[in-house]
Amino acid sequence: MDASVSEIANITWTQNVLHLLATTLHLTSYLYPEQALIYDGDVFDYVIVGAGSAGCVIANRLTEDPTSRVLLVEAGGDPPIESHLPGLMPYMKQSAEDWNYTSIYDGYSQQGHTPPISDIPRGKMLGGCSSINYMYYVRGNPYDYDNWAKITNDNTWSYNNVLPYFIKSERLQDPNIWNTPSAAFHGSEGYLGVTKQYEKRTNKYLQAFSELGYNIVLDTNGNYTLGFTEPLLTVANGYRQSTATTFLSPIKNRSNLYVLKHTMVTKINFDEHNNAVSIEAIKENKEKITIGVNKEIIVSAGAINSPQLLMLSGIGPRKHLEDLGINVIADLPVGENLQNHISGISTYALEKISERPKNPHKYPQPTVMGFATVNNLQTYPDYQSVNLIVDSDYLLENCAFTNYFKKEICDTFYKQAKGREVMISQTVVLHPKSRGRILLQSINPYVYPEIYTGYFSDASDLENLASYIERINRVTTTNYFQDVNATFLIPPDCASNEPDSEEFWRCYALCMGMPMNHYIGTCAMGSVVDGRLKVFGVQRLRVVDGSVIPNMTSGNTNVPIIMVAEKAADFIKAGN
Ligand SMILES: Cc1cc2nc3c(=O)[nH]c(=O)nc-3n(C[C@H](O)[C@H](O)[C@H](O)COP(=O)(O)OP(=O)(O)OC[C@H]3O[C@@H](n4cnc5c(N)ncnc54)[C@H](O)[C@@H]3O)c2cc1C
Repeated sequence: MDASVSEIANITWTQNVLHLLATTLHLTSYLYPEQALIYDGDVFDYVIVGAGSAGCVIANRLTEDPTSRVLLVEAGGDPPIESHLPGLMPYMKQSAEDWNYTSIYDGYSQQGHTPPISDIPRGKMLGGCSSINYMYYVRGNPYDYDNWAKITNDNTWSYNNVLPYFIKSERLQDPNIWNTPSAAFHGSEGYLGVTKQYEKRTNKYLQAFSELGYNIVLDTNGNYTLGFTEPLLTVANGYRQSTATTFLSPIKNRSNLYVLKHTMVTKINFDEHNNAVSIEAIKENKEKITIGVNKEIIVSAGAINSPQLLMLSGIGPRKHLEDLGINVIADLPVGENLQNHISGISTYALEKISERPKNPHKYPQPTVMGFATVNNLQTYPDYQSVNLIVDSDYLLENCAFTNYFKKEICDTFYKQAKGREVMISQTVVLHPKSRGRILLQSINPYVYPEIYTGYFSDASDLENLASYIERINRVTTTNYFQDVNATFLIPPDCASNEPDSEEFWRCYALCMGMPMNHYIGTCAMGSVVDGRLKVFGVQRLRVVDGSVIPNMTSGNTNVPIIMVAEKAADFIKAGN
């Protein structure tokens, strides 16, 4: 059997065993709020749909007021043990806790993958994607937020006004950063534990990027946002810091917090004045319930499910809704403006190494991360470089399973890299111009929406990706890479192109193109919600999650979304 095929079979087998353990032993249930006893017709002050990165934060902050009764409804259940242990992170994708979406085939952008469509993992459990993600703590650049302020015409989103909210949620545990001027940008009292995992073996790679002229910095979330570093992680004391473990577990016994798990919200109902008045939901036992709300409904179902729920409830593009026979409450561009970072993977086989022991509490892929510009005068990055320093077995798993590249590619790479240290380098176009959209396929809430990713629909994204990968590939000229006779691994699809030619890099970028998991923009501020995240054209309804972000931030999206939720909770409490 091919190495990649047997690797996928091994992972699937392990996932099945882990799932059996989770469903029989419920090892993690004690950490989370118990299932609330909720009956048809119950009424709450606030109902939050979705307990993901954003939803858990809002539930925490709104229940700080003991007079507010808050219901948090989540389609999934408690995160299993493999979500808690950073070392088991690779087993989360395509598990029972993943919505496991895929994109509509576009015939172009996913050529190196099997099947040639995007895998779209999304966490379906308390914590949502923060319980399944790769745990990089990245805030983005001041430029991003000043841009949001312009789009919304609301200065509350400027960098200076969002910075206190990043600080509020954070509990940084890195003594080195605390001893630098960067400390002024960090928080020590928040719920979210943040650490760095220092690894000796990353030093030679930092040195290599330094030789190429990139600055080596301690922190890219503080006063310097450009340069290469070992990234901060949402890992503390050996455990993942999802918003479920950090914002929900500590308040699980608050008497005004009600958490309804394994329950799918299917519709929001409005009265004749377009006030959101109740939700409809289906419980695990298939019972249909309607829950009333006194104050507000907050939709935090994520960038795929929030637009789906809004459209099912009559908020969306008129023609699309009418075609499906849905009564239109507000004609808004819900589902449009879908954005994600697109990246390309380049892989290098380096010195011979012996097998390294695995520790489930340790982050499994020591990383060197950089943010860089093409024009040295620019203050925000054009591309991100995420370099995983791993062994060849990890390469195989990452190539065949996590990144679902074709077996011809993964087997070729594995053969050349076996027994050697490997750098898997992911180069990310931080400000892509391509846009996709989400459409309903059916009025049945259980039928997945159609996801058109639109990757490379703006040709400049592919050109930029190819040129950024080529820049990073110059690492092969540095001392360490030369000393160990590093091999740049080339997929069979591009082997016949003249090395280093424009055609080669375009082929490479297309073949090794890999979507990140940073879906945003489908209920964007400025077009679907206002600067206070209230849905235009109706009352008592807000969206608070990745879908409201109007433009990609310069990096990963979990922490920006937590910041948005912190801010939204203050809007709600202040009656804004
Ligand atoms: C594999 C992966 C790796 C990633 N790595 C990183 C990283 O390293 N760093 C980083 O910053 N970001 C990362 N991200 C991105 C980041 O985690 C997400 O952008 C972020 O968590 C999304 O938050 P959200 O609140 O918008 O949605 P989610 O966290 O997805 O929350 C939505 C919640 O709503 C629930 N839900 C949906 N529909 C319904 C419904 N109808 N009824 C009830 N409940 C519903 C879902 O089950 C889910 O729990 C990664 C994402 C993935 C998937």
